[in-house]
Amino acid sequence: MTIDRRRFIKTTAAAGFGFGAGSKGAGARVRAAAVQARRSPDIVVVGAGTFGMWTALNLQRLGARVTVVDAYGAGNSRQTSGGETRGVRTSYGDRPHGRLWTRWANEAIRKWTAWDEMGRDRLLPRLFFNTGDLILREATSEYIENTRAHWNALGTPYEPLTADEVAYRWPWVRFENLGVALYEPAAGVVRARRAIESVARVFEEEGGTIRIARAAIGARNGARLETVAVEGGEAISAETVVFACGPWFPKVFPRLMGNRIRISIGHVFYFAVPPGDTRFAFPNMPSYGVPGCTGWPALPPDHRGFRVRTGGRVGDDPDTSDRWIPAESHERPRQILERHFPDLVGAPINETRACHYESSVDRNFIVDHHPDFNNVWLLGGGSSEAFKFGPVLGEYIARRMLGVENDPELAEGFRLKDEEFGSSGRRGRD
Ligand SMILES: Cc1cc2nc3c(=O)[nH]c(=O)nc-3n(C[C@H](O)[C@H](O)[C@H](O)COP(=O)(O)OP(=O)(O)OC[C@H]3O[C@@H](n4cnc5c(N)ncnc54)[C@H](O)[C@@H]3O)c2cc1C
Repeated sequence: MTIDRRRFIKTTAAAGFGFGAGSKGAGARVRAAAVQARRSPDIVVVGAGTFGMWTALNLQRLGARVTVVDAYGAGNSRQTSGGETRGVRTSYGDRPHGRLWTRWANEAIRKWTAWDEMGRDRLLPRLFFNTGDLILREATSEYIENTRAHWNALGTPYEPLTADEVAYRWPWVRFENLGVALYEPAAGVVRARRAIESVARVFEEEGGTIRIARAAIGARNGARLETVAVEGGEAISAETVVFACGPWFPKVFPRLMGNRIRISIGHVFYFAVPPGDTRFAFPNMPSYGVPGCTGWPALPPDHRGFRVRTGGRVGDDPDTSDRWIPAESHERPRQILERHFPDLVGAPINETRACHYESSVDRNFIVDHHPDFNNVWLLGGGSSEAFKFGPVLGEYIARRMLGVENDPELAEGFRLKDEEFGSSGRRGRD
């Protein structure tokens, strides 16, 4: 959906925004980009991860002049969205808000596919690989039953498989005492870092500005934030400011977010697939979820490796944490190979990735005003799953910020909750 400039200004004025420049199509935007870069933006987005970049693109497409500020850049190696790959599945029986997430994940799959179709003409890299997703368990559970209930209610295609069917389709997968196997054919894997780079490139081509700098709250006037302070002394003024800081939230807003976002570090391994062996590469192997581990096949053209994510460690400062995985943590993924993918036992590790999870108290996303400001938004709380939702979240958030999306139930779900983390840990799917 595109809102023409006149309607946009009307809508945003009603929503408390004030915007400057005249109407622009994509071509005009490119020509005007240099001029725009020197003018105050309507909206500053701090953070160029999944939340920030998709929101910025959608805001701009609705007519706003947007500047994105990121401490390291779009798709950088330290951001949570800067990983190599992210899974795109719809099995959310373990979440209280699972019905919505299942519906949105289905929508996200359609949007990733459409993005790749658009990207072919613009020579963007392919992002989405429709691998299908396979969940394997010894026995059913609340997670399995709730997931099936959501799928049934929403008409999401899936296949319950027998142990024989799994062995016939993927003979290189082993699972002792397999009691439950669910295959979701539409699911897939998206190239994460490249996705953020692609969205950033399209955003800039269409007139947006991205700056590499650390940003903070600047001058305020009562409940209004007048400026964003950029390291080096500059102040950028804007009508509206968005903070989409991922695992940096507790650093940026220690009092507000220190106990509302919990940071941990996830460990990801990419094992080398034997030369010429296509069994563990797309399209011959689905993404998978076995107890304590998720992963997926190696993707062409670079075949980074067969992905195994298991375990992790307590999170520390995202600016200073080491991102390699110490050797004492290599045992667990090797046990997964031994148990479920025996032909990969002994495979060398191509690469490891350690990145920060940022979980909210209720494990739902946060899309809310900063309680101290009426023109500042907080976006985040990815809770291990936000990447796939980027294209859907970005559209929802932009429309909500501009006052054209008003569903009170959604807003309540994404409210920054009053509760804070106690000492208990939180887990993903069982
Ligand atoms: C190991 C692992 C596996 C995962 N697997 C999946 C999966 O399979 N599927 C899925 O959908 N999701 C998955 N996720 C979750 C998903 O990656 C995250 O939910 C999502 O990427 C979070 O995006 P974000 O925009 O909130 O944060 P980020 O991507 O971290 O972006 C925040 C940005 O803000 C910038 N920033 C912060 N503070 C400042 C400041 N003061 N000034 C300027 N810039 C600042 C940072 O530099 C950073 O670039 C996984 C996460 C991990 C760690």
